[in-house]
Amino acid sequence: MECRNWIDGQQLGAEGGGLLPVIDPSTGETFARLAQSSEVDIDWAVQAARRASQGPWSRLSAAQRSQLLLRCARTLADAREELARLESRDTGKPLRQAQSDAAAIVRYFEFYAGAVDKLHGQTIPLGWEMTAFTLREPLGVTAHIIPWNYPLQIFGRSVAASLAAGNTCVVKPAEDASLSLLRVAELLHEAGLPAGVLNICTGLGKEAGQALAAHTDINHISFTGSPDTGRQVALQAAQNFVPVTLELGGKSPQIVFSDADLDAALPVVVNAIVQNAGQTCSAGSRVLIQRAIYGDFTERLAEAFKALLTGAASDNLDCGPLISAQQQARVRSYLENLDQDGIVVLAKGKLDSKAPAGGFYQVPVLLDHVPVNHRLAQEEIFGPVLVAQPFGTEQEAIDMANGTPYSLVAGVWTRDGARQVRMARQLRAGQVFVNNYGAAGGVELPFGGTGQSGIGREKGFEALYALTSLKTVALRHAAS
Ligand code: NDP
Repeated sequence: MECRNWIDGQQLGAEGGGLLPVIDPSTGETFARLAQSSEVDIDWAVQAARRASQGPWSRLSAAQRSQLLLRCARTLADAREELARLESRDTGKPLRQAQSDAAAIVRYFEFYAGAVDKLHGQTIPLGWEMTAFTLREPLGVTAHIIPWNYPLQIFGRSVAASLAAGNTCVVKPAEDASLSLLRVAELLHEAGLPAGVLNICTGLGKEAGQALAAHTDINHISFTGSPDTGRQVALQAAQNFVPVTLELGGKSPQIVFSDADLDAALPVVVNAIVQNAGQTCSAGSRVLIQRAIYGDFTERLAEAFKALLTGAASDNLDCGPLISAQQQARVRSYLENLDQDGIVVLAKGKLDSKAPAGGFYQVPVLLDHVPVNHRLAQEEIFGPVLVAQPFGTEQEAIDMANGTPYSLVAGVWTRDGARQVRMARQLRAGQVFVNNYGAAGGVELPFGGTGQSGIGREKGFEALYALTSLKTVALRHAAS
């Protein structure tokens, strides 16, 4: 299979003819090739998006865009299983997870189709002779740099919102996970999205991604990925005074108090780190457990971890492989020299005997009593590694939870209502979940962090504010 870029409503090979291998993470084998885009391809895509932003697309009413996005949602829904299978093969995620991602992209298109005709400006009282109001206008061409962990979902949350806001888009998916998005582009075209409104260029981050971030004719960048690359993207954006939304991951805590419903907490705490093999920006990668129940709860966690099975994506087990040999090496590097630091492995999952030898597997690992300043407790590992830490008082839990450079998400498990509110208010996080984690996807809920977790918010209505420009109009007129 040879995949081309999607530019101006058609497939186009990369100008230089370069191709990149697409590797199946479950086997390590190459099964397709992708266009290796350069600055030239990116420029074609941006030019196509600019032309489209000035054409009939710009004159659609919000209600017409809403109808079109609903048609997009229906077309994606019809292709859900095909998209899930493609995503599962390309990223190594178990089919069940890919199915849930395919359902999520449909929800994003539905949500933004329903939201866009409710996006109103304001009127501002200035007296009898003045009428002032605000208009929310499209920004123009928006750039979307998408990582490999949830291509369908992350495309849905940023591109559906941007299209709803009336922009046109240029997307650079990760070289490790582009296939589902190229198919989505075709499907959206079939659903009626005009040529040039959505363009996708595949390729390397340091080539195509860098060229997109540095392009002088884009009006916004949505980036999801690592803090180091996010910083480079933000510097490029600053050169051109382009606003950015950066979602840069986290080291999110799950805080379990001794009065919590432990039966309810246990499977959620496990899933929050095992889902997508821990390659989730909002992964619950630290579990802070109140001392009185630390022994009991870690014992139950250990039993659950020992029962987890890792294997090929198509076998649909608890955990698939990691995305690449590079990511596997990165996660393994965190698990070296544990003895030297006195860190005990409380439990590990098992590798399925049928897992192909060339796959990039890492079984889930539960680590005991990790000191708060240890890199395992401070850095985003992006693998199925859960760090357990005991705490005494509520204040200690807050200090530990807030004690990393990240601040994306936090989970709190307690039956005490007053404590739920105190914790929610004092935790430094863009989202706090009480007695749940993730609200089953939460398409409607604004999402994003501060500090090393990034800048700005995606999802919900909030994304529409970031993806539009606010214009104030003040009219002086006769009083009567
Ligand atoms: P990156 O931040 O490098 O990649 C994210 C996206 O940025 C990809 O599309 C990538 O393309 C692109 N990119 C890479 N370099 C540039 C550049 N100079 N300019 C513009 N775009 C660029 O993350 P990695 O894939 O290297 O993963 C490293 C770590 O980052 C992970 O272990 C994890 O900790 C974190 N991460 C966090 C994510 C999140 O959801 N918040 C998602 C992914 C990673 P390409 O892949 O083709 O190089």
